[in-house]
Amino acid sequence: MNLTSRYTELGEHFSVVDFPSTVANPHLLLWNTELAAQIGVDTDNDEQRAAIFSGNQLDTQIKPVALGYSGHQFGHFSPCLGDGRAHLLGAIKDHQGKLWDIQLKGSGATPFSRGGDGRCALGPAIREYVMSEAMNALGVATTRCLAVVASGETVYRHPPQAGAIVTRVARSHIRVGSFQYLASQGDIEGLKKLAEYVITCHYPQINSTAEQRYIDLLAAVIEQQIALIISWMRVGFIHGVMNTDNTLISGETIDYGPCAMINQFDFDTVFSSIDKQGRYAFGNQANIANWNCARLAESLLPLFADDQQAIATLSPLLEQFSEQFNQAFNTMWQQKLGLSGEQQSDHQLVTELLQLMKQHQLDYTNTFNALTESLNNQLTIPAELQAWSIKWMARVDESSYRIMRAVNPVFIPRNHNIEIFINEYEKFGQSEHLNKFLRVLKKPYDFSAQVSEWCQPPADNDRNYQTFCGT
Ligand code: AMP
Ligand code: MG
Ligand code: MG
Repeated sequence: MNLTSRYTELGEHFSVVDFPSTVANPHLLLWNTELAAQIGVDTDNDEQRAAIFSGNQLDTQIKPVALGYSGHQFGHFSPCLGDGRAHLLGAIKDHQGKLWDIQLKGSGATPFSRGGDGRCALGPAIREYVMSEAMNALGVATTRCLAVVASGETVYRHPPQAGAIVTRVARSHIRVGSFQYLASQGDIEGLKKLAEYVITCHYPQINSTAEQRYIDLLAAVIEQQIALIISWMRVGFIHGVMNTDNTLISGETIDYGPCAMINQFDFDTVFSSIDKQGRYAFGNQANIANWNCARLAESLLPLFADDQQAIATLSPLLEQFSEQFNQAFNTMWQQKLGLSGEQQSDHQLVTELLQLMKQHQLDYTNTFNALTESLNNQLTIPAELQAWSIKWMARVDESSYRIMRAVNPVFIPRNHNIEIFINEYEKFGQSEHLNKFLRVLKKPYDFSAQVSEWCQPPADNDRNYQTFCGT
């Protein structure tokens, strides 16, 4: 692997060199052959993969780093978070010249561990692999997973569990919290370099000069965040911990700790055990993305000569967030219902459907899939929607099926299935069900594939389902 240390140019605050701690008995559990080929990771066998991607055996020229960042966690500012259990090995250049960060997570303590053990349990590692690969297949911008390696060690959680190391692949690991960190350190030079680096790397279309560059940067990040939240809402994804340290500036999904998928449709759905107020509820994700972008705007202020003038210029961008989002949100529902060319009555049609779905506790994925395939006479419309569907049927046309099929998944990575995969891994060190799931995972919009096994909602609709952060 030929890796470059792309972040050293961003100065001493952004990253510190730190090495993974070796583990007792690394054993490869999951390997993403397709991703390895795509980014050009060249390895010979599972033993070698386990040795490298546990951090046990790194090339001598690799200088791993832990990144520094701050974060607003549930609205409260923590100035010094950083990678407490992750080591970024470097970036690999793919065949098209694109850079991809390769990061080990669960690879041992770093200067940012704050008393944590720097480790990761097997369950969350499996969850991250399956969820991020499923999200990628669903067409949602996300970090990827190259490997999961069992450490052969116990991690002390309640109860003690097997440990693992996940290899995460991302276009970058620059977060809103990275900007907050440099701003809070008073490192204005670093902040400027970071802004320039982000523009070069993620937003090369920005060609303005002087302060206008930072205004354009905020606008571009807002646009990406809106696109991201729309794609989450489209597939029924709840991130669960949208802290500013878990918000990538590139607009990719990161941190699959407490995430979950909705079954029955309800904007108020929350699964995270610590999200007592519903701050990160399914339907509140756009508000939080807006709030996070405001935190980014604040940390850009030191780059402007005049604070008051900067606030006056940046605020309107944040105020337009909801209007911009709502427009994209309407378009999303139009597509999910196959309605082309917006008509006045469309809004009412969507509102009524969402009310009925909530009232009758209908499954989000299966309802939209049934509506889609009803147009092809493959599935029938749920009885509770019969009256509503007369109006809808009068509104669809010959392009509707194609539009709907492209945006409504046939199946999603349901919470109860993820738990089955994790349980099997914990008990047997492998999962037949996951192997099966991974074989169909790549085509979540293909109705012709035999996937009925993955379409079943859980018996209790995940009524008592809970997810957990940082395990
Ligand atoms: P997360 O909840 O995964 O977004 O993590 C929040 C912060 O806690 C990050 O700075 C992590 O690096 C840190 N963290 C989480 N788990 C651990 C751990 N086991 N050891 C050290 N740091 C951790
Ligand atoms: Mg260390
Ligand atoms: Mg995190």
